[in-house]
Amino acid sequence: MPNHHQRNGLLRRHFLGQTAGLALLGMSSARLDAQPPSAKAGGDSDLVIVNGKIHTMDPANRVVTQALIQNGRFTAVGNRLAVPRGNVRRVDVKGRTVIPGLIDAHNHIVLVGNRPGWHTPLEHVFTIPDAISVLQTRCAAVPAGEFVTTVGPLSAMQFSERRLPSLTELDAVNRPVYLQAAQGGTRTNSQGKTWLEARGVTVAADGTIAGPSIAAALLALRKELLTPQTRQRSALDALNYYARLGITTHRDCGAFHSDLPSGAIASENTFTMHNPFLALQREGRLPARLRFDFLHQDSPTANPPLPTLSQRLKYSFPFFGDEWIKTGGIGEFTGGGIDGLRAIARAGWRAEDHALNLAGVTNLVKDRETVNAEIPLSGLRWIISHVPEFPVDLANRMDAMGMGVLVGWGPLRSGSNLGPPYRMIMNHRIKKGYHSDGGDITVINPWLNFSTIVTGLNLAGQPILGDQKLTRQEVFWLATAANKWFLEEDDLGSIETGNHGDLVVLDRDCFTVSDEDLKRTRSLLTIVAGKVVHNDGVL
Ligand SMILES: [Zn+2]
Repeated sequence: MPNHHQRNGLLRRHFLGQTAGLALLGMSSARLDAQPPSAKAGGDSDLVIVNGKIHTMDPANRVVTQALIQNGRFTAVGNRLAVPRGNVRRVDVKGRTVIPGLIDAHNHIVLVGNRPGWHTPLEHVFTIPDAISVLQTRCAAVPAGEFVTTVGPLSAMQFSERRLPSLTELDAVNRPVYLQAAQGGTRTNSQGKTWLEARGVTVAADGTIAGPSIAAALLALRKELLTPQTRQRSALDALNYYARLGITTHRDCGAFHSDLPSGAIASENTFTMHNPFLALQREGRLPARLRFDFLHQDSPTANPPLPTLSQRLKYSFPFFGDEWIKTGGIGEFTGGGIDGLRAIARAGWRAEDHALNLAGVTNLVKDRETVNAEIPLSGLRWIISHVPEFPVDLANRMDAMGMGVLVGWGPLRSGSNLGPPYRMIMNHRIKKGYHSDGGDITVINPWLNFSTIVTGLNLAGQPILGDQKLTRQEVFWLATAANKWFLEEDDLGSIETGNHGDLVVLDRDCFTVSDEDLKRTRSLLTIVAGKVVHNDGVL
């Protein structure tokens, strides 16, 4: 979730060289966007994965060759399984690397699913020609005159050109185009310029939209383009896009509330924004699991106190739903100050706040210690996320209260020794897990995040983590088995008998590919509850 301070930090751009190898790898960047999943959730038979290099992420860290899924769960995992006769589909993955379905334990997928226009994520492209190609391919599904949009996780830093596409380049896309990079820069093409100018939005001759015109543009797009149907389409598109990158479970951490359409990128109607996802669930079309937390922003001095939080705690349920969609706790803002924390603790709910600096995390820990002295927090699994600055003393104090930290949040930042101190956290006994925090200010693409944590480099190739890097095994563990604790679900995040049948067959061995290629990793086959939700040629 952005704030002003954080956005400014992300506005700075850098111009170091970086190669882009999609063409060299023989992969079309467009495929990630263009292909519909070959099978919708529902109706698949039981299946057995054979000839895999299956990293189970179980407590013994076993790597096996076979995994059997029946009725949505793993029923056998090993090397020479006795596969029952009958309707069991045999999937030979030909030695490919298999990992548990990835869990992003804190992002803003619900905001992404409510973007106006035909939102087209560009988190997997690294050159401007590739971006244009993805947008052109997207047009095939878009009626003439309708907007192709990319709003949010987009940055000049990701392109080898170190800039956003120009109006002339975007004119190669035969639809109105609107690109809004939360990290800085908003662009449109000639068709988009005409539409926006007719609504009073100032657009420079080169397609740049700047200053207050950005909010005016986004507001106009939201007011005119959003319907329940477009939201549902965008929600499905977003979930499918990330299924192709291996994410099988998203924990959404909310938005800033706005009753009416807003020009602010991280704002939505938090009482209705889940509807498109709930509709997909009712229709049995979800390609991933969702966990929703509720963000509250009551003022600590509100009168009557805690106007929204008190209602939430009284009239709704934490951890309510089914295996596809479940409610969670309060966050990523609890709001309401220390009385808000007291109310959440008394109600027995989970709470999460984010910290953007040392002063922030220090205050959050102090307040929790005050509440903990009155109402023990142990067992409630309260969370602080991001923690860019995080001394060991605070880790000790959080751990003593039974709290955990979520880390990630890196590929688009610039500066040195930005944290979080991954190595310290990894070696500490505190509960820890992986989150992207992506959707508005940063990317959800897990492979960009993993690459940064492993190499210490941002997307422009600049060192940002000092010596606080992790091994690949550690990073993949954080995004799978370690996140069980944050979901409060033991039967996700590892390939073990009895767990939900979620796995990803990767297009490369993420344990051994070069650092440069790690960020281009994608899924060839994504399976959730035994159902194929993405298939790129394996079946
Ligand atoms: Zn967030």
